[in-house]
Amino acid sequence: MEPYKETVDAVVSEYDASLDDGLTERKVEEKIKNNGKNKFDEASKESLAKKFFHSLTDFTTIILLVAAVISLYTAIATDHGDYFESFLIIAIVVINSVLAIVQEGNAEKALSALQDMNKQTATVIRNGKQEEIDAEDLVPGDTLLLESGSMITADARIAEASQLRVEESALTGESEPVMKDPEYQGEEDDSLGDRLNMLYKGSTVVNGRGKAIVTATGMKTEMGKIAGLLNSDETQKTPLQKRLNQLGKRISLIALAAAAFVFFIGQMQGEPMLDMFITAISLAVAAVPETLTVIVTLTLAFGVQKMAQKNAIIRRLPAVETLGSANVICSDKTGTLTQNKMRVRRVWTHGDSVVDTEEGMTDEAMEVLSIAALCTDVIVENDDNELEIKGNPTEAAIVRAVEENYHTKAELEEKYPRIGEIPFDSDRKMMTTVHKRGKKFISITKGAFDVLYPKFHYGDVDQAAIVNDRFGKKALRVIAVGYAIHEEEPKEITSEALEKNLRLMGLIGMIDPPRPESKAAIARAKKAGIKTVMITGDHVVTAGAIAKELGIMKSRKEAISGAQLQKMTDEELDDRVKDLSVYARVTPEDKIRIVKSWQRSGAVVAMTGDGVNDAPALKASDVGCAMGITGTDVAKGAADMVLTDDNFATIVDAVARGRSVYQGIRKAINFLLSCNISEIFIVVIAMLLGWGAPFTAVQLLFVNVVADGLPGFALGREPAEAGIMDEKPIPRDEGIFARGLWKKIGLNAAVFTVVTLIGFYIGAFVEHISYFTPPSLEVGQTVAFLVLAYSSILHVFNVRSSKSIFKVDLATNKSLAQMAWLAIGITTAIALIPQTQELFYLVPISMNHWIIAILLSLVPIIVTELIKFHKAPEVDPENI
Ligand code: ATP
Repeated sequence: MEPYKETVDAVVSEYDASLDDGLTERKVEEKIKNNGKNKFDEASKESLAKKFFHSLTDFTTIILLVAAVISLYTAIATDHGDYFESFLIIAIVVINSVLAIVQEGNAEKALSALQDMNKQTATVIRNGKQEEIDAEDLVPGDTLLLESGSMITADARIAEASQLRVEESALTGESEPVMKDPEYQGEEDDSLGDRLNMLYKGSTVVNGRGKAIVTATGMKTEMGKIAGLLNSDETQKTPLQKRLNQLGKRISLIALAAAAFVFFIGQMQGEPMLDMFITAISLAVAAVPETLTVIVTLTLAFGVQKMAQKNAIIRRLPAVETLGSANVICSDKTGTLTQNKMRVRRVWTHGDSVVDTEEGMTDEAMEVLSIAALCTDVIVENDDNELEIKGNPTEAAIVRAVEENYHTKAELEEKYPRIGEIPFDSDRKMMTTVHKRGKKFISITKGAFDVLYPKFHYGDVDQAAIVNDRFGKKALRVIAVGYAIHEEEPKEITSEALEKNLRLMGLIGMIDPPRPESKAAIARAKKAGIKTVMITGDHVVTAGAIAKELGIMKSRKEAISGAQLQKMTDEELDDRVKDLSVYARVTPEDKIRIVKSWQRSGAVVAMTGDGVNDAPALKASDVGCAMGITGTDVAKGAADMVLTDDNFATIVDAVARGRSVYQGIRKAINFLLSCNISEIFIVVIAMLLGWGAPFTAVQLLFVNVVADGLPGFALGREPAEAGIMDEKPIPRDEGIFARGLWKKIGLNAAVFTVVTLIGFYIGAFVEHISYFTPPSLEVGQTVAFLVLAYSSILHVFNVRSSKSIFKVDLATNKSLAQMAWLAIGITTAIALIPQTQELFYLVPISMNHWIIAILLSLVPIIVTELIKFHKAPEVDPENI
């Protein structure tokens, strides 16, 4: 059966469906068994073995493997039979790859768990009840309910539609939304775009409402048929990750150059060529920060996980970085800064007759509320006497006021059945419904007073304007209600035909109190150099009153209305944008202008949104934040981050987290590069001085993988530092090494170099340290190895905080201390156990040598502590 060629009835019976009651639980189960889930077949994941071999093709690993081959060759050529070195290099390659795969796997798992939280849902009727289900559970025959902003998650035949316009460019390439028509009679060679009675997975409802019967799911949908082409499972990398990969390669090249240099000097000094070769190659490999990219991924994943725990779900990884740089947050008012618990407080009908609904209700006020309640699309659920109203909060407030005064929406609807509607949208700021009223018809229009004002031809309109202003000053949102009586059924249900010549019935004033946490979050953002801008569909007076209360604006001059904004040129807006804090009565289109103007001034803008028309502004902003509860699928799809609690304070928390991730990555770079760069210096300087090679290849690899790798992995879990929100945002174009990071790395590397070379020199050349352990190259190497390994492990405590190590609570990151102890334990063990000593070319050393090694490895901590002591920043511990 081709559903687009059939009538609705034929489709209903073919799929065993029911338009009003939907499928029963039993039928759904049966159909899931037969059809499977509504999802595409998954692209096969890279197997573990493949991942492993993939990791071996890494630039640095190739160098390492070449080193292993050369080592093997030297062992054979010199006939000394020492195959351990090549074996060890290979073992370290394997350990390194396995560690990387395991850690990367953990990070991936954390990120894909978040993907699950981003799952699509669908609203259906099942068992006679409206339900929101996971889109994967849709089956053919389900009755889909559609409204503006719904994402279509299966193919379906439309059964009912009101002004239903659908954007299906993903399938047809046509970006203009199409008006759908359930009555359309499909023809044989209709293309997908011609089938006006069908909906296809991957499209979105941009306007109107409707009902449809699901006809195909999963791979059987039109999208599923081309899914193979779309099945790209590319993991996202942030710009910083990409730059760090580049950096890793660049350091490899520097290391290779250093290796060539060392080789050349060795040659000049007459060292055996093969020995030089292996030292040079191992230096090249050892100097590369093998674990850097994994540690950065871990830090990001940890940050993203923490954000999710605090209600911010990252949809695009690069947003984590951008968040740290955000210096403007443009926020909706309703529900984000306020509680979204809209309640009717005042009703005005005529003259001075304002009713305070908390004090009592009059018949006249009740009439206005009842008429307005007819013009709503909320759903009333009255389980266990607990009134729950789902849908638009403005409408919910009206219906609640009616239901709490012993009338019901259902009753009203029975008396005045609805025969047509022109839905609400934030651009028009009004909506209209048409009802039967005995033998006549009534059209009810409700919306913002100032927008409806010119349409009222009857009623006390001038007085209403005064009351509207008075309500606004009290931070009340005002909804005007009007109607028109029609003798005959209106033929055209359009704005032009119905939204004119209205009789004003009254004004409804409602309040939505600010969220208690908003004020503090705005103050916190301000301290962190972030300006909060309120963008709202509400009236400028109402918005201004709330903005003042929240500390967003001080003077009335900071607020303008959408109408004023539209009169401004882009240049004029650019001149004033920094002084404006409240934009009222704006349309979603205005939001883009505001974002772009801020961006032209160099700002990094986070913007909230929930409606379909907010999607372009969410895309245009640097961090688009969609509302998780009230947001449409389209807004969520366009956003970088979804706020599961719709709360402004969550954005500010996410910014703090974004900054801490950035800080964490800088710490990892400091930690790893200090050690890697010192390794290059130590080897080159020792060779230049003619002291011989201070390390063997395996010793350097051990330092990188164990002494650096283990604590490094735990560094990714470091919590944010105190005072992170006392600093200015990270400038957009700031390099990761800015603000003195290179200097710090250079200094650390220099200190490591000096202490390690001293250790090497003492072990290799200084007599009388111990009677039983005379100086030798091997003793020097052993002391140098211990000094470098210990000081690198301890360095993790230096970089974890800008505060003194004595002031940081170790319990905030237990795994860091555990990993550091583990690394110290392993290092000490291999230096003490005869078998491992042999493997790592270490020799037994005297107690005096041990003491010297330990004292030397404490020097970097002492130096860093002295520097920190001089620069101790003053921070407010409250502002973490
Ligand atoms: P904000 O932009 O602050 O989050 P909002 O999203 O609620 O607020 P809109 O939905 O664009 O703003 O509403 C703008 C105006 O439209 C409101 O001030 C109100 O006057 C009117 N309005 C809101 N909802 C409805 C509705 N369901 N029917 C008629 N008019 C409405």
